[in-house]
Amino acid sequence: MKNCRFTVVARLDAASAQMKEELIRTLLSDGCVEDEAHPDVVFVVGGDGTFIYAVHMYLDQLDHVRFYGIHTGTLGFYTDFHSDEFDAFLECFRKEEYTEESYPLLEARTSNAVYYGMNEIRIENAARTQEMDIYINGSLFEKYRGTGICVCTQLGSTAYNRSLGGAVAQDGLDIIEMTEISGIHHNKYRSLGAPLLMRMDTQIRLDAVKYEGALLGADSDVCYIDNEHSVSIAVSNTKKVRMLKGRQISWFDRIQILF
Ligand code: NAP
Ligand code: MN
Repeated sequence: MKNCRFTVVARLDAASAQMKEELIRTLLSDGCVEDEAHPDVVFVVGGDGTFIYAVHMYLDQLDHVRFYGIHTGTLGFYTDFHSDEFDAFLECFRKEEYTEESYPLLEARTSNAVYYGMNEIRIENAARTQEMDIYINGSLFEKYRGTGICVCTQLGSTAYNRSLGGAVAQDGLDIIEMTEISGIHHNKYRSLGAPLLMRMDTQIRLDAVKYEGALLGADSDVCYIDNEHSVSIAVSNTKKVRMLKGRQISWFDRIQILF
């Protein structure tokens, strides 16, 4: 990609910082222009966590920014190359041998704010038992009681969702998934008590008389929602993440490498 405007977002360890320097040097000598404010391509050096961090940095520019990642640890779900493949990572970019794919973002709305999650949106209350009415496509689905609820994307299914006992979902599946975070199950409050896989166009609403002490988490962003009573969660109609995919690695290989 000639004359591309780029920036590099790297994890804070020494190896990632060194790779960032090398990448900048090489791209500049190729005639690319470093532009942190308005990049065409954001190179991500780090892990899945760093990739998500980079996406959140450029949430307001997702319409034109493409993300291209190299992992400085083991292979991840957001990156196709690992650190000893730096040359192949660069060559693929130079020769434009990548494909572009876009991935959905979850959008959560409260009375006064909007949050985006590439892995998941979650509501968690570690301070007291959280009660909520869960509406799906406008109808009351269940009355929930417990620590919280996590709604993830296919990509996020291997992150927090997996720790919660949620299903790990193969790439290419157009789903969102809702899991309970320590649900309490007895006769008075019946919630499903199992991960629920839903279509991508499903609208979820989590209503509570009281959200005091509850945190809304959107990937690594978290904030208290003490004064809210309703949170709507759905796949965003306006925002998608555009990723440059360096090569085909089967999703099953990634699963085996990582877990
Ligand atoms: P972070 O350190 O950036 O990420 C935590 C760990 O999750 C890292 O090892 C990261 O892998 C891995 N990870 C991130 N996205 C993944 C994905 N889609 N599939 C598989 N692994 C993934 O932590 P953070 O900045 O606080 O939060 C980011 C994410 O952490 C959240 O979106 C949430 O999913 C996850 N989280 C997990 C738990 C849990 O499992 N109990 C609790 C809270 C949050 P890398 O080493 O490649 O970066
Ligand atoms: Mn990380």
